[in-house]
Amino acid sequence: MTEYKDKTIKCVDCGSEFIFTARDQEFYQEKGFTNEPKRCKACRDKKKAERNQNQSVNFQHNDN
Ligand SMILES: [Zn+2]
Repeated sequence: MTEYKDKTIKCVDCGSEFIFTARDQEFYQEKGFTNEPKRCKACRDKKKAERNQNQSVNFQHNDN
């Protein structure tokens, strides 16, 4: 069994440090994600919100 340790990562977007917790690392491993997160949660949420917004705009265009 792999032992995970909390890890500090610097966000590529805002430059602030965030913790990639042992629990999250285990979760990533379970999901088969090989990349570590590059952004803090705030920036990830922001990106996600932007993506969702763009998608809904595209969907509207497609409907017309
Ligand atoms: Zn950030």
